[in-house]
Amino acid sequence: MTTINIKNLVRKNILELQPYISFRDNNAFENPLLMDANESPFGEFNRYPDSTHRNLREKISALKNILPSQIAIGNGSDELIDLIIKIFCEPKKDSVLVMNPSFAMYGFYATINENKVLQLNLNEDFDIIKEEFLNIIQENQLKILFLCSPNNPTGNSISDIEFYIKNFDGIVLIDEAYIEFSEQKSCLDLIGEYPNLIVLQTFSKAWGLAGARVGIAYSSAEITNLIYTVKSPYNVNVLSQNLVLEKLDQIEDFQNNLNEILKERQWLKYQLEDLECISKVFPTDANFFLIEFKNAEKVYAKLIENEILTSKRFLQIPSCIRLNVGSRNENERLINVLKNI
Ligand SMILES: *Cc1c(COP(=O)(O)O)cnc(C)c1O
Repeated sequence: MTTINIKNLVRKNILELQPYISFRDNNAFENPLLMDANESPFGEFNRYPDSTHRNLREKISALKNILPSQIAIGNGSDELIDLIIKIFCEPKKDSVLVMNPSFAMYGFYATINENKVLQLNLNEDFDIIKEEFLNIIQENQLKILFLCSPNNPTGNSISDIEFYIKNFDGIVLIDEAYIEFSEQKSCLDLIGEYPNLIVLQTFSKAWGLAGARVGIAYSSAEITNLIYTVKSPYNVNVLSQNLVLEKLDQIEDFQNNLNEILKERQWLKYQLEDLECISKVFPTDANFFLIEFKNAEKVYAKLIENEILTSKRFLQIPSCIRLNVGSRNENERLINVLKNI
């Protein structure tokens, strides 16, 4: 593979775009009088948030041993997916490649941006078929490759993932929303090696902060700069930035909750495998199970009847339901209903 020049992959209007720069966020002051942003002098949340997320990026930097200049914070990783498509994909012209089945948001934002979405069909273990991948990238001009590992909704990790990074000469985005639940190695260590690689992580799953809407994109400083150029200036609010800073100081709580979920995952797996209505529990590296039922429609309806909400909207795997690991009480409530089907 030839070396990749990121500038050649960026939309021209984005390359020429002047970022909105907040003067106060980009300079240090001792005792500033803030009369620059038409804010109110009253109240607890009267000031705009730090548009550069400096404290948050420094804290994450120390934790992950990655430079702040290679860390971008989004309003959930959903916003980052949207921004990355906008940076690189020319509407009505460029195409992206997604795994099938996988997380729906890649195709959702690409479609809004009027980009074609090509599907990379997974094999029966929900892994990528290398030959198929090589064929598709040979026959099509593709801007972004979206990999999700562990994959949602299938739960498995993609094997030999560096092969796909190595062989793709556009942007490779690896979504690691569930990496904390997995024993597989994160691709974070590879961002120094591949300037076209973006690794997405989130505070929504293992960190228990879905309501705060905070996601992270790790990449080269060049791509990070582009994200900061196109994002809404105040994309992450003060409450959320402060909350995440606080949680990052409580690593022990995080670890305890994570261990509890992993323990419950194991317990739930044993319970599920004993059930008559189930034909297969797929292996998982995430905090959820993909389960094949003998009669998924009936099970899904029965669960709804009992106000137990699960996810069953995957066209390629119609007999499967995805459900996430809960607390012991929640898991027991689920098992008790499934036992009577
Ligand atoms: C849940 C999830 C996310 C998280 O999105 P946020 O916007 O950060 O809440 C990202 N990717 C995948 C694959 C997910 O399942």
